[in-house]
Amino acid sequence: MVKLPIYMDNHATTPMDPRVLDAMMPFFTNQFGNAASRNHKFGWEAEEAVEEGRKQVAALIGADPREIVFTSGATESDNLAVKGAAWMYREKGDHIITCVTEHKAILDTCKHLEKEGFRITFLPVDGKGMVDLDDLCKAITAKTILVSIMTANNEVGVIQEIKQIGKIARERGVLFHTDAVQAAGKIPFNVNEMNVDLASLSAHKIYGPKGAGALYVRRRNPRVLLTPIIDGGGHERGMRSGTLNVTGIVGFGKAAQIAREELPRESAEMLRLREKLRTTLERELDEVYINGDLDKRLPGNLNMSFAYVEGESLLMGINDIAVSSGSACTSASLEPSYVLKALGVGEDLAHTSIRFGIGRFNTEEEVDYVANRVIDVVRRLRELSPLYEMAKEGIDLKSVHWATEA
Ligand SMILES: *Cc1c(COP(=O)(O)O)cnc(C)c1O
Repeated sequence: MVKLPIYMDNHATTPMDPRVLDAMMPFFTNQFGNAASRNHKFGWEAEEAVEEGRKQVAALIGADPREIVFTSGATESDNLAVKGAAWMYREKGDHIITCVTEHKAILDTCKHLEKEGFRITFLPVDGKGMVDLDDLCKAITAKTILVSIMTANNEVGVIQEIKQIGKIARERGVLFHTDAVQAAGKIPFNVNEMNVDLASLSAHKIYGPKGAGALYVRRRNPRVLLTPIIDGGGHERGMRSGTLNVTGIVGFGKAAQIAREELPRESAEMLRLREKLRTTLERELDEVYINGDLDKRLPGNLNMSFAYVEGESLLMGINDIAVSSGSACTSASLEPSYVLKALGVGEDLAHTSIRFGIGRFNTEEEVDYVANRVIDVVRRLRELSPLYEMAKEGIDLKSVHWATEA
């Protein structure tokens, strides 16, 4: 028997790996020093642990440890990258390019800069969620200072052509930032191979602790400078002041090390489980739609819409499974998912979408349970749906004139 509820929302956050907790424990108790204390053993131990974490995080993305700036999480990293570059290079230009399906940490940061007088181009995506490289080329002007495009999307798992985007930006002398939160540790990601100048990472998306993140900041070819958004003691080469979160960094480092070592095996296993879930659902149910490109996608992500069911009822029916939905009433915002909207998914289908995020600790048994549960509930709801019945009888619903009450 599987243990309920089942957690299958690993894009929102991941459970911490027990090996990560073990690595962190001493730094909560005996080794509590401040990494900036230069005069005693407590400080030296903490600094040593931070530098080990820095090496481990750098190794995950093929960076030099000196290129890692620790932050409180990827929201801060995104803010530091975009605002920091915008403020630093304002003399050079006032134009930034990003994309409509970015995380709010990027979109809202760009909107903030817009109010300060920067010009922002929000590139559209196609029906599969991909940015068009011609659109990007055309958008770049002499005033463009930064391109920020995420590596993998947190809702539909779509992976952009980061290497080519980086090449385009580099050839035109424009800095390239990528929000790599969902990609790093899940798919191969190397800042040099991919021509990346700035990259945001978060520990709690890779089985590490919440409240720890990093920004990769390129040191050579080109050397990237940033205006800090937090001033103070000059930690992290002046780019991010504040006493370092030693336990968080130790945990982040350990999580990065595990992710790097296990990536080939783990990503193959995630893909196997995801494909089992997908093919089972597609075999047993008709009128299901995959949102976003199936091939250019994170191995653990499945985002699917179930036509002719009511989104609320579907979620209620599977309330022993923790997943996310593109529907309004379950999330903090009142709009259906802006990401699905950008892909051209209609409101009806957006409301019945489910994001399955398979992670390290999901088992095949759990995947089977989830598939069976979803199949049962969707079938049951459709039995009650006159629309589904009409569609099955071949009636074109668009041709039907509905009688409306006065
Ligand atoms: C989770 C997430 C963030 C925010 O990271 P925090 O560390 O929680 O602030 C940013 N971007 C993407 C793509 C994410 O999935």
